[in-house]
Amino acid sequence: LVRIRGLRKSFGAHQVLDGVDLDVRRGEVTVLLGPSGSGKSTLLRTINHLERPDAGFVEVSGDIIGYRYHAGRLHELGNRSITRQRARIGMVFQQFNLFPHLTVVENLVEAPVAVRGVPRRQAAARAGELLERVGLAGRGDAYPKQLSGGQQQRVAIARALAMDPDLLLFDEPTSALDPELVGEVLAVIKDLADSGMTMIVVTHEIGFAREVADTVVFLDEGRIVESGAPAEVLARPRHERARAFLAAVL
Ligand code: ATP
Ligand code: MG
Repeated sequence: LVRIRGLRKSFGAHQVLDGVDLDVRRGEVTVLLGPSGSGKSTLLRTINHLERPDAGFVEVSGDIIGYRYHAGRLHELGNRSITRQRARIGMVFQQFNLFPHLTVVENLVEAPVAVRGVPRRQAAARAGELLERVGLAGRGDAYPKQLSGGQQQRVAIARALAMDPDLLLFDEPTSALDPELVGEVLAVIKDLADSGMTMIVVTHEIGFAREVADTVVFLDEGRIVESGAPAEVLARPRHERARAFLAAVL
């Protein structure tokens, strides 16, 4: 489903992504590990073209993200076309990023109506189903600030699902949560994995990686230095930086 080749990105002289190759098959969960500053967030942001790559490409569901292939060349897409591509890639951030002035249901209805032209009543009905799926049935009229962090993050997941994405990206979805709220969010993500959703998850929750990931990838200084089944990568990392990182977080 996802094919990344030769992806490079620098900010000024700082090479943040230094030739990343990554494949994610449909229905698989890839957990992305790596030290602070290794480029994890930049990689996710480049996948949905919030950052423009300097070289290389990201292909999702057969489309090169941000570009159109025509007459043997890549042409950069305009904003509207990129928005359309992005609609198929959901993203969940550490800080939830819900619209604070909208109710939970309004948060879920907004994008399907505005971007996909779904009738409002249909989007609202779907929002109800999604809230049930993340364990928040009946909370649709609440405002984000009336909910706990764990509940807000589950709303953010439901909001991403409301666009029927092919792919979900998570950037440290539980890092901003109180410890007792982490489990309920990971349980929702695990449930999505079990239902066959394709996901790339940046997290330091090693137990989650071991249990849910099909592939664990370790990023260091903008390169994938380790990649494989969780049992392999987590138990017997070959790369020194991966060993040091795992020793610190386990
Ligand atoms: P963390 O675990 O702390 O979230 P990360 O692996 O997600 O780290 P990135 O956020 O991808 O790392 O950042 C990688 C490097 O790129 C960092 O050194 C960061 O300062 C730099 N960087 C990221 N975004 C920008 C930007 N917009 N402009 C300049 N530098 C940036
Ligand atoms: Mg980050």
